[in-house]
Amino acid sequence: MSQALRHDWSREEVVALFDLPLPELLFRAQSAHRQHFDPAEVQVSTLLSIKTGGCPEDCGYCPQSARFNTGLKAHKLLSVEEVVKRAQTAKDAGATRFCMGAAWRSPKDKDVAQVAEMVSAVRALGMETCATLGMLSEDQACTLKGAGLDYYNHNLDTAPEYYNEVIHTRGYQDRLDTLDNVRKAGMKTCCGGIVGMGESREQRAGLLQTLANLAEHPQSVPINRLVQVEGTPLHGTAELDAFEFVRTIAVARLLMPASMVRLSAGRETMSDELQALCFSAGANSIFYGEKLLTTGNPDTERDQALFARLGLRPMAVQPSGHDGSVHVSIECESSQAA
Ligand code: SF4
Repeated sequence: MSQALRHDWSREEVVALFDLPLPELLFRAQSAHRQHFDPAEVQVSTLLSIKTGGCPEDCGYCPQSARFNTGLKAHKLLSVEEVVKRAQTAKDAGATRFCMGAAWRSPKDKDVAQVAEMVSAVRALGMETCATLGMLSEDQACTLKGAGLDYYNHNLDTAPEYYNEVIHTRGYQDRLDTLDNVRKAGMKTCCGGIVGMGESREQRAGLLQTLANLAEHPQSVPINRLVQVEGTPLHGTAELDAFEFVRTIAVARLLMPASMVRLSAGRETMSDELQALCFSAGANSIFYGEKLLTTGNPDTERDQALFARLGLRPMAVQPSGHDGSVHVSIECESSQAA
């Protein structure tokens, strides 16, 4: 029988999970995974950068910040036609969810209107949609929900107490507020973080504790391994031990057993064996195909070959959310009625 989802994890409890012998931690994570999912299925998303670079924020890992000299080639917001063309290609390659990312601190209302058009058009192809556009107001969240946006990605990045080591241009509470606006609009949240930024194990536990103790577990939890980009402040950080990354995946699975746990940025530098271990620790979602925002990603063929070797298969589109829940937008209905 599946356990009730918890939102009251203490830091000590989460650290204790990290401290378990690895085989015991994997066993527990696998057991939790099977209560909610078929472990042979992996949800496959494709991420397209619809507007690249020139961001005013100073996230210390990000080559899209206008503050760092990384040689990144910036581009303005793509046209709706171009985005639909790329979504169709992703669909043909087997992706069921299409994520659109734009490097904004927060979008202007006219940007949101344009992204809303993209969302409707991609939805019409029969794909799930996700967007990551920076901070959102309640009204902007409602507009995107109205266009059919299924998921909104907004990461917490790291533990509250480590956050100021990485980002200075907006606070942790700003992120929590955006997640609140997204939830109130009735969209599903995609929210995770990045590990290997020099944080301690306790701080990794703090990130997962904060995610699990949100009002609702994010339906998608991307766990990124820092991709070090020359020119960014975090370039040169000591690399995270591979088994520590696996532990982070396993603890995320245990804390948020009904959520998709996604292997995200950093996957291109992982061996097939490490990825297999991550799937065994409860990861059940990946990005494939298109470039993962601005960092490389293993090509589609390598992913398909890996799935075949491991006996994994892509998960079909979930019509009303993997948990069977129907998300109703009470806030948007009332604001539209007013
Ligand atoms: S992570 Fe997002 S908000 Fe931060 S600098 Fe990069 S594009 Fe801007």
